[in-house]
Amino acid sequence: MQIRGRVLSVASECVPFIKTGGLADVVGALPSALAGAGWETRVLIPAYRALRGHLAAMEEVWHEGALFGGDGRVYFGRIDGVDLYLLDAPHLYDRDGGPYSGPGGDWWDNPQRFAALSWVGARMAREGVSGWKPDVLHAHDWQAGFAPAYLAYHGAGGVKSVLTIHNIAFQGWANVGLLSDLRLPREQFHPGALEYFGNLSSLKAGLVTADWITTVSPTYAEELMRPAFGMGLEGVIAARRDRVSGILNGVDTAVWSPEAEEPAFSVKTLSGKAKARAALSAEFGVDVPGPLAIVVSRLTDQKGIDLLPLVIPDFVAAGGGLIVLGSGDPALEGAMRALAARHPGRVAVRIGYDEGLSHRLFSGADAVLVPSRFEPCGLTQMYGLRYGTLPVVAATGGLADTVISASPATLAAGVATGITFYPTDALAFGQALSKLLALHADAKAWAQTQKNAMRHPVGWETSAAAYADLFAGLVR
Ligand code: ADP
Repeated sequence: MQIRGRVLSVASECVPFIKTGGLADVVGALPSALAGAGWETRVLIPAYRALRGHLAAMEEVWHEGALFGGDGRVYFGRIDGVDLYLLDAPHLYDRDGGPYSGPGGDWWDNPQRFAALSWVGARMAREGVSGWKPDVLHAHDWQAGFAPAYLAYHGAGGVKSVLTIHNIAFQGWANVGLLSDLRLPREQFHPGALEYFGNLSSLKAGLVTADWITTVSPTYAEELMRPAFGMGLEGVIAARRDRVSGILNGVDTAVWSPEAEEPAFSVKTLSGKAKARAALSAEFGVDVPGPLAIVVSRLTDQKGIDLLPLVIPDFVAAGGGLIVLGSGDPALEGAMRALAARHPGRVAVRIGYDEGLSHRLFSGADAVLVPSRFEPCGLTQMYGLRYGTLPVVAATGGLADTVISASPATLAAGVATGITFYPTDALAFGQALSKLLALHADAKAWAQTQKNAMRHPVGWETSAAAYADLFAGLVR
């Protein structure tokens, strides 16, 4: 494949090296997906304590004196299939704890820690490293938000910048007193540029300076321009609406593959799924004549978990069943336990995080419920599609962009893949579950919908092509 261009991806997380959320999956999946579309991608992340073991096998390619209180050195190597730059700055990253917080909460110097990452990323992009010069700097979330700003204010050297929002809730707040420490120009401290409610936000800095802004679904891209979703940044994003787009995440179809499960199944041989359902019913003691639904989720307000106790009693009375796997808010964990206690043999709950169980749940269940209040992209509805476990989702963000709701029209056209509802409240959710019961009772329509779902493409190919086209358009 001919190389169309080069990308330096700047981020705080990357699978398989460091992960606290979906951001890491995206940063880790893009290099090989983009390679297939002609874009050579290298990833820059901090050398956190747990990653310093890799340095010995890497080559030192960059030295940065005076990097917010100490030296920074960048090492390069191909590790686990990723062309990886590690920024080693022990005074900033060689610590016990997570990437953003230690035992006492968030690291006090997070503004400097991620300004350092952004500063080095911007310089490497502008000047090139050992003859490798990117055409595009791809910054991810607030942790890399200053990188487009450094390119804009200190010289871009012909490099275009793209900022991707994975989660607008984290905005990289920093005190205004840090303005010059963080190497930001004082004359840009006004509401049209760096100023954010009297202080600084690295995410806002990126949003006002990047050549392009993306987020992880087209619907979320539109929602972010509205107060209910933008979390204070809606006006900033709306002001740049002609430079904002949404590109859906993909899922790793090698890891999420019904053919690789035990028992295995596929769109052609669904008998394995029936066996998986029987095993799941036995494992959880949930045996129902109607649809067996699952929830695999963080138990938080965002995910609409509080609605389950309001809608599930009617659902189980009509023959449905539910298995919940998740952890999070203690009050919601308690509510899930109480729901299971009230409906023995119909509802079961497992509090915790369990990848293996999650695979068994998607294999054996009939439907996955995702009643989120907002959802930038969402992954579990895509696992549901792939496993013929029909998604019942709130029509928001990436959920709205990945599920085609069953209706007389979509069933007649043979394109339905699940059920969507709006708004995220108990009335609409309850009506969606009634639709699920009716669809399940119509064996022909159910089988057709399941097939449509399993044939829906959820891999990275489409998304990688969209990123590749975006990059190509910017550098043209
Ligand atoms: P978010 O990133 O907001 O939590 P996503 O749907 O984008 O939501 O991704 C969540 C990921 O975490 C999915 O891969 C989901 O299967 C997984 N997950 C969430 N909770 C659990 C759990 N308790 N056990 C196993 N996997 C879980």
